[in-house]
Amino acid sequence: MIDIDRIVIPEELFEKMVIHAKNIAPYESVSIIAGTIKERQALAEEVFTPENIDKSTVSFTVDPLVLLEIYTKIDESDLEVVGIFHTHPAPPYPSGTDKKFMEVNPSVWLISSTSEPTKPKGYLLRENGKFKDVEVIFTDKITLK
Ligand SMILES: [Zn+2]
Repeated sequence: MIDIDRIVIPEELFEKMVIHAKNIAPYESVSIIAGTIKERQALAEEVFTPENIDKSTVSFTVDPLVLLEIYTKIDESDLEVVGIFHTHPAPPYPSGTDKKFMEVNPSVWLISSTSEPTKPKGYLLRENGKFKDVEVIFTDKITLK
């Protein structure tokens, strides 16, 4: 299992996710973060902002075909899914449903409260079922490459 201590996101990419979240609030929003993992750091390089087909304030689903398209693009760019950002109505902590999704999508989960999309918290689900806090760092651009 991957182990990641921090996720580094260029501000420009984060802004794209926040705009997406604000546009569909009060519904939950979801964004998929593609990038690379280097020395226990996830480096975000690209962000996808699919629709939440649930149009729900308490859940999100991405159309499987859209998801497939996104994953194909990520593959073709030689990147991987390093994070999933979503907003939900509760404080930024994984819900029971989130935990189930985290089991099958083992990347960094960034969660913001729908009312405060600019304040995400990062989590990784450990094999023992506990959450590990992942530090979230914003940069103007990635200079580590
Ligand atoms: Zn959630």
